[in-house]
Amino acid sequence: MNILFMGPPGAGKGTQAAAVVNDFGIPHISTGDAFRLAIKQETPIGIKAKEYMDQGLLVPDDVTIGIVAERLQQSDCEKGFLLDGFPRTLSQAEALEGILSQLNTRLDHVINLKVDRDKLLARLTGRRICKDCGATYHVIFNPSKQEGVCDIDGGQLYQRSDDNEESVGKRLDEYINKTAPLLDFYESKSLLRQINGEQDIDTVSTDIVSILRG
Ligand code: ADP
Ligand code: AMP
Ligand code: ZN
Repeated sequence: MNILFMGPPGAGKGTQAAAVVNDFGIPHISTGDAFRLAIKQETPIGIKAKEYMDQGLLVPDDVTIGIVAERLQQSDCEKGFLLDGFPRTLSQAEALEGILSQLNTRLDHVINLKVDRDKLLARLTGRRICKDCGATYHVIFNPSKQEGVCDIDGGQLYQRSDDNEESVGKRLDEYINKTAPLLDFYESKSLLRQINGEQDIDTVSTDIVSILRG
């Protein structure tokens, strides 16, 4: 099953992806995670991506599309995949069509997590992530049992450097200008399903699973 999660930064894509990939045994492909790993490893792609991410801007299409094209060719994607945070521009969406058709496959579900902009700042500034396993928490909406410590493996929780008010504003503008138009692209292909992402995490999960199990 080939799944795409859409929605603005902070909509809950990563949180929901963790549950779905566990259930369906498919890889979670997050371009944001891929860039953060490249930055940590100081690769040429990481050095380039950092310039843009630090400013809350999208990384250029050529860099981003290359990463995804390479990732989708790996054998663990043959049984399906969950894309989270890609595509974010019309060029990326068109490139994805080409990549998938070369692999003789297509998207099965495009799920849009709808959350109003006024809710996103609080979600993003309160987000915390485990440095060891990447699990996502929120200081108020989804707190770990012990403050600053991951429930799963005891790893230390950190805050992403771009989860501050200034960067969030820019990221939301980038979303409105460049990514939101993709909803029409997938609607016109009759692939788009809307979910109310403002419900609690478990209710959103139930709604997603009911679409995927169709
Ligand atoms: P995205 O991957 O779409 O940017 P995340 O999954 O990282 O979003 O979620 C952003 C923040 O909001 C995290 O701190 C997460 O714990 C929290 N969150 C996710 N889903 C919900 C929800 N349904 N209700 C409240 N907070 C949520
Ligand atoms: P995310 O982890 O999805 O919130 O992404 C973090 C940052 O990585 C974004 O603000 C962008 O700078 C960059 N990024 C992630 N995915 C993409 C993409 N598909 N296209 C361009 N930039 C991206
Ligand atoms: Zn952890």
